[in-house]
Amino acid sequence: MSDRPIYLTEYVPRSELVVESHYVNTPRFPAIDVHTHFGSLVLGDNYEEQYDMGRTVEIMKSYGLKQVINLDGMWGAELDRMMKKIHPYEDFVTTFGSVDVSKLDESGFEKYVVQTIKESVGKGIKGLKFWKNISLVLKDKNGKYIPIDDKRLKVIWETAAEYKLPVLIHIADPVAFFKPIDRYNERYEELQAHPDWSFCNPELYSFEELMEMQENLLASNPNTTFIVAHAGSYAENLACVAKWLDKYPNMYIDFADRIAEAGRQPYTARKFFIKYQDRILFGTDSTPLDIKHRFNYRFLETWDEYFDYSDKEIPPQGRWKIYGIGLEDDVLEKIYYKNAEKVIFGK
Ligand SMILES: [Zn+2]
Repeated sequence: MSDRPIYLTEYVPRSELVVESHYVNTPRFPAIDVHTHFGSLVLGDNYEEQYDMGRTVEIMKSYGLKQVINLDGMWGAELDRMMKKIHPYEDFVTTFGSVDVSKLDESGFEKYVVQTIKESVGKGIKGLKFWKNISLVLKDKNGKYIPIDDKRLKVIWETAAEYKLPVLIHIADPVAFFKPIDRYNERYEELQAHPDWSFCNPELYSFEELMEMQENLLASNPNTTFIVAHAGSYAENLACVAKWLDKYPNMYIDFADRIAEAGRQPYTARKFFIKYQDRILFGTDSTPLDIKHRFNYRFLETWDEYFDYSDKEIPPQGRWKIYGIGLEDDVLEKIYYKNAEKVIFGK
């Protein structure tokens, strides 16, 4: 034994539990991953040089994926660049576009939005994606953070509905990111490693305010289909997400990067995934450089207990382990691809 107490960062206990373990390398049904990043948002501006498209598609197929949705299409010249990178794998990689919300105060914003979406549809996008730069980063000319339910953005949601484009939104982050980085914060080590991920700042909208805006958006645009990423922004409180799903038929969710949350509440999660089996899309937040599918398959398909949700030595989101929820085939089939086919490809 060392003569001093060890620091938290040094502590990497190994479980002595002897229980069944199943390593699931491919899903029971070929899956569509609706939440992946192939572009500059996650990989940086030189993303083209970082991976080979043909090789990436080959690897992703070997993980049992039949299609993926790349959320990083952006607009204009950036979209052209992205589509060029993907070519000739458009059958495997479907891209979502976006519009430049920083133009909000410019005259002709509405016209710009309609024109951009029309052009992007012509270039092959199948949906739109909006990120937390709305609500948490971009300000309008009066210095106010632009909320997702800002009336001036309505033209986006209406045009999306017109072209039958689903809109994937990611406007918040784990609740702990909005709390002080102190000894009570369950994501303390993650925030220590990435202090810029903290939104604990009185100038920003609170988590509760963001969730109110999200609800307003769903309520006031009933003809637009929204995929609210990361388990409806609130994986910590599935009862609340269930309430929204009951209330807003235009709401779908993915659970990208949230098995750490869902898998530590397996009884609640199993009931939730079964009840909302028609509203949940499979997504992982993977990139060509970081493919996270195996953990997701194990969580969805097995009854394994107390296992890692990541291959990092210290669990990156919080110091806990997860449990599988053993979903049945008919539920898995919907979550793995049928819901995505319906919502994104209109099948
Ligand atoms: Zn993402």
